[in-house]
Amino acid sequence: MALPAPSARLLDTLRQRVRADFRLGVYFVFGGLTVAVLLPITALRFAQGHTLLAVIELVIIATILLMVRHAWRGGNLDRLGILVTLLMTSGGALITAVSPVGLFWLFPIVTASGFLAPTWLTLPACFALIGFLLWEGNALLEGGQPLAMLGALFVNGVFASVFARHAGARRAQLEQMATLDALTGAENRRALEIELEIAIAGARRDGRPVALALIDLDHFKRVNDRHGHGVGDRVLQDFVRIVQASVRRTDRLFRFGGEEFVLLMPATDEIGFEFAMVKLRKALLELKACGEPVTASVGGAILQAGENRDGWLGRADDALYRAKEGGRNRIEIDLPPD
Ligand code: GH3
Ligand code: MG
Ligand code: MG
Repeated sequence: MALPAPSARLLDTLRQRVRADFRLGVYFVFGGLTVAVLLPITALRFAQGHTLLAVIELVIIATILLMVRHAWRGGNLDRLGILVTLLMTSGGALITAVSPVGLFWLFPIVTASGFLAPTWLTLPACFALIGFLLWEGNALLEGGQPLAMLGALFVNGVFASVFARHAGARRAQLEQMATLDALTGAENRRALEIELEIAIAGARRDGRPVALALIDLDHFKRVNDRHGHGVGDRVLQDFVRIVQASVRRTDRLFRFGGEEFVLLMPATDEIGFEFAMVKLRKALLELKACGEPVTASVGGAILQAGENRDGWLGRADDALYRAKEGGRNRIEIDLPPD
């Protein structure tokens, strides 16, 4: 059975973003397991009358789900990982204090923090839990095999930390390869699709304007024909360097394809857009192919309420078309009807 269009689209975005960001994937697994495993256990605890334990678990579940939501909305995953680890570690300790069997929850907590927190935090958090268990005198550790249990928790923490460190280095390398354009170093189209969704979700949340500029180099075929592909390549690299030096640090440049780029400008309204374009135009006077000036045409669009990625890009593309039709080396902005 085919999914309705909005759900299929959401699923597609979800798949793309999880593929592009391993930690986001971990958050989703985490959220899914929370709902599938923790929630029924908590319901059972309520039914059995262990209300205090159930309430603590409910708070932990709600916190985890809020964090998954924050990660989905493009929150800073480094800071979030620290927060998640601190909350889960203290929540886990609290549970063991209420009920000794809560000890078993510490294993997934240590593993999850290994993946989500920076490595400097994973082992200290694990040691803090072990120290807490020793200090608290957990009933399960008294009669049986305290050292074996604590040793297992420690080994779990070390494995999670070592594996996460290795995966982190690999992830950074792969992320760079997967999101950057090899020729120019600008972000690639795949990254653009993800960032547009994040920008749309962000604008919906905080109501701040966000602008997009579609920039296409003029008569670029001629540059290649006259000076060769090598010079053309260098012009594309120079273009990216010049644009990145001209715009704000929060503005992001993506290679949309060939000699076409997208500049995504958060917190930018029409006036801000025009201001940025005046500055960019001036900076681009420097762009040359063997001494001959290379110009660009720009189509801009400010995100409108309720608009999706394709609609927004489509309006910028219409404006770019008008800039080309109007003689090139021009900036056109698509304005909503009054
Ligand atoms: P217009 O002003 O209408 O945009 O004209 P144009 O010549 O720029 O547009 P057209 O789409 O006809 O040609 C784009 C050219 O960009 C053709 C293609 O060879 C060149 N191009 C695309 N990617 C690269 C690249 O990576 N390196 C080089 N050197 N050229 C590229
Ligand atoms: Mg062109
Ligand atoms: Mg083009």
